[in-house]
Amino acid sequence: MGINFGHDRPWGGVNQREYQRKAKEAAHPLAYRVHFAALGWADRNGHAAFDSGRLARLLGKDGKDLSDQSVNNAIARAKKLDLVSPRSGAACLVLPSYLFQKGKGAPVPCRLHRDRRDCMSRV
Ligand SMILES: [Zn+2]
Repeated sequence: MGINFGHDRPWGGVNQREYQRKAKEAAHPLAYRVHFAALGWADRNGHAAFDSGRLARLLGKDGKDLSDQSVNNAIARAKKLDLVSPRSGAACLVLPSYLFQKGKGAPVPCRLHRDRRDCMSRV
């Protein structure tokens, strides 16, 4: 299945490596860094899974991990701004398919979200 956002919905590509880099840049507000991390690591289904503590490390500053509390606050803010799906958590950031689609990679479920159906609708 190719990328299709619907009629009259043009799309372009992003360089995921660059968004991985941007996610680590402390100059950006944390909610945006969460969004950048989601974009940077999203798989075929728009899921970006992170091992325990990895997101805290990515979002850290000056070599210091972000606290779990701050990570959760940043994700909550990103959800409120509609930058990631409400299903997102520190273990997996989810981009809804109206925001992100990817043409390559195996469409395998992530460890956390086995049921992908509601990823496909605007939530
Ligand atoms: Zn997931």
